[in-house]
Amino acid sequence: MSENPHTSTLLSFDQEHLLHPYTSMTVPLPNQLVTSASGAELHLADGRILVDGMSSWWSAIHGYNHSALNAAVVAQLGKMSHVMFGGLTHEPAIQLGRTLLDVCPTGLSKVFFSDSGSVAVEVAMKMAIQYWQACGKGEKCRLLSLRRGYHGDTFAAMSVCDPVTGMHNLFGRSLHSQYFADAPTCRFEDAWNPADINSLRERLEQHGREIAAVILEPIVQGAGGMFFYSADYLREARILCDSYNVLLIADEIATGFGRTGKLFACEHAGISPDILCVGKALTGGYMTLAATLTTDRVAQGISGDGGVFMHGPTFMANPLACSVANASLALLLSSPWQDRISAISSQLQRELSPCAAFHQVADVRVLGAIGVVELLEPINMAEIQPAFVSEGVWIRPFGKLVYIMPPYIISNEQLSKLTSAIVNVTGKIRIGT
Ligand SMILES: *Cc1c(COP(=O)(O)O)cnc(C)c1O
Repeated sequence: MSENPHTSTLLSFDQEHLLHPYTSMTVPLPNQLVTSASGAELHLADGRILVDGMSSWWSAIHGYNHSALNAAVVAQLGKMSHVMFGGLTHEPAIQLGRTLLDVCPTGLSKVFFSDSGSVAVEVAMKMAIQYWQACGKGEKCRLLSLRRGYHGDTFAAMSVCDPVTGMHNLFGRSLHSQYFADAPTCRFEDAWNPADINSLRERLEQHGREIAAVILEPIVQGAGGMFFYSADYLREARILCDSYNVLLIADEIATGFGRTGKLFACEHAGISPDILCVGKALTGGYMTLAATLTTDRVAQGISGDGGVFMHGPTFMANPLACSVANASLALLLSSPWQDRISAISSQLQRELSPCAAFHQVADVRVLGAIGVVELLEPINMAEIQPAFVSEGVWIRPFGKLVYIMPPYIISNEQLSKLTSAIVNVTGKIRIGT
């Protein structure tokens, strides 16, 4: 580690004044200073290079500093970086809408662009509520969500996050009260246990009259626990939504664009939602952009009588973000991404399996290009983060979970570096002391 005075000045300002996600305002943990990144590597100011296991939270699927994505931004920059979307439109947004509707689950026909995943979730909830309002069923204004779910950090999104592990203890009194069903327990690879859906059915039976929509993360419950559940659960949920006259919102902000081995996780169950949220990997991690897609039925409902959908962000459909999203989707769709994901998947299975024997490990699981090692006890971040950095990898655990979702372009050697770091570091964690 070098003692570059410039680096230490920057880091001490950061430490004093910049807030980072979910960290103390007064006793912050140290951050790594990144000066550049390329492919699956992050370059630190002190000269060290870390192999990236996080894809910057699911988003940088093609790796960093990709020439095709850079070129798309530069080309768009020379035309216009932004224009308002009220009354104006542009080709980058039109092309992106076209591609999204082409590749997304069937039945979706309208696209609303917004700036972040949380806002895409807010938009989805507003669509559902406005739809029932327009149908003369204003009492259908509450959401039914799954325990262990995660849907973002803004207020409406928080209200449908897990009420225990989410932020309800802090903000509960300011949140809309929603309904929750038990989290699925039937694993992705397990035989279906029909009792798993009972809790969702019971909530719909009791409260269906007040419920506008069920919101869930298809197949992968992400930031709420990194759990992979049965496709049958999702199929049954779709059927129940129809029979109780409730819309289904699929939050594919983490799972969208190939991560689970299908372009969208809904495809594992062969279902289509009434409303779909995408974000994160949409721009290949280049810029903040999200989208909420819906059906003709919902659109007709909301606007059938001349009603308008009441949302309109300042930076809606930002042309730079849409252009890089177009380039990212073109890159993904023209690549052998299915082969890549299944190769990553097999390697993760193989190389993470030794962790299952550790007494401090509760579970090892892999789906698509997601690898998870769940420990028995919460991880001490102040200890584990430097341990991973000294192994030459960027892995950021939370709670009891050490997990990776690397860029799809990661090499076998780089992936082995990530998995051996996980084996080494988790093997040394002491518990029960
Ligand atoms: C990350 C995430 C969100 C929130 O997206 P932001 O861009 O962080 O606001 C919502 N839902 C899921 C499933 C996510 O993984």
